[in-house]
Amino acid sequence: VAKNQGRNRYARFDPCMQEAAQTRMRLLNDMHLALPAGEFSLVYQPIVDLGSARIVKAEALLRWQHPTRGLILPGDFIPLAEESGMILEIGEWVFRQAAQQIQRWRERYDPTLQVSINASPMQFRADGIDLQDWLDCLAAAGTTSDGITLEITEGVLLDQGEDVLARLEAFRSAGMRIALDDFGVGYSSLSYLRKFDIDYLKIDRSFVSSLTETSNDLAVCEAIIMMAHKLGLEVIAEGIETAQQRALLADIGCDLGQGYLFARPLAAEAFEDLLRAAG
Ligand code: C2E
Ligand code: MG
Ligand code: MG
Ligand code: MG
Repeated sequence: VAKNQGRNRYARFDPCMQEAAQTRMRLLNDMHLALPAGEFSLVYQPIVDLGSARIVKAEALLRWQHPTRGLILPGDFIPLAEESGMILEIGEWVFRQAAQQIQRWRERYDPTLQVSINASPMQFRADGIDLQDWLDCLAAAGTTSDGITLEITEGVLLDQGEDVLARLEAFRSAGMRIALDDFGVGYSSLSYLRKFDIDYLKIDRSFVSSLTETSNDLAVCEAIIMMAHKLGLEVIAEGIETAQQRALLADIGCDLGQGYLFARPLAAEAFEDLLRAAG
């Protein structure tokens, strides 16, 4: 009996698992070289006013052009960057890059344009972002902090208490905005809204993708939007791909949206073409 159970219960040596571990190790090694080698870049996706389709923000999204594996999307390397701590260094690079970019676009096209930057939970720990350092960086770029929105996930609010609360408050006091990303897919999102002052809720793509007039998702989105507005927040819907989704969301009062219907994430030059065309 013990023998039989043992066979089922214990993982045997699996050559696939070993291969996966080696791939991870290699990717991690490569990641250390990627920053100095200039293999990271940012693409920008427009966030638009749902009524007028006017671009109000650009979400900066990280891309890694690997020398042999080609383009790697964040889902395939951010988790590794977080585990290894490299996300701190990468996150600093992202911020600097985005700050310079937004300053340029504000100067040339629209002084009210904002950039949204995704931040990882680790960046809100004690050894994470140095707020004064960021403010100095913004000043050096010639831009003001109201051009910056930080997109955080539940993970930021999850592991900690007073520390992170105080840190987020400091960002807001310094003029930056905070958006709660991927809203609706986590566990206890509602309790965070009581505790943390934020500026935007981003409705997760999974609610938008199956949106129809009769879907439960429509009722859920409507409830989220009503609640958010009562709390004084603006709502951004992500992953809008069809005109019907846009119309339904606009109908129920959603403020802003982004998705392939409007534009895919674009290289900086292509995003600039959009701004030029709009201006
Ligand atoms: P996110 O912040 O929720 O970003 C939205 C994701 O949805 C992006 O994927 C975007 O390309 C994709 N998307 C936008 N519109 C549509 C649509 O209409 N349909 C579909 N199917 N997808 C759409 P991406 O660029 O692969 O990024 C994935 C995630 O990686 C992001 O999710 C964010 O959590 C993370 N990430 C990206 N850049 C950074 C970064 O600089 N730092 C950190 N810490 N995380 C990042
Ligand atoms: Mg985001
Ligand atoms: Mg999101
Ligand atoms: Mg998402």
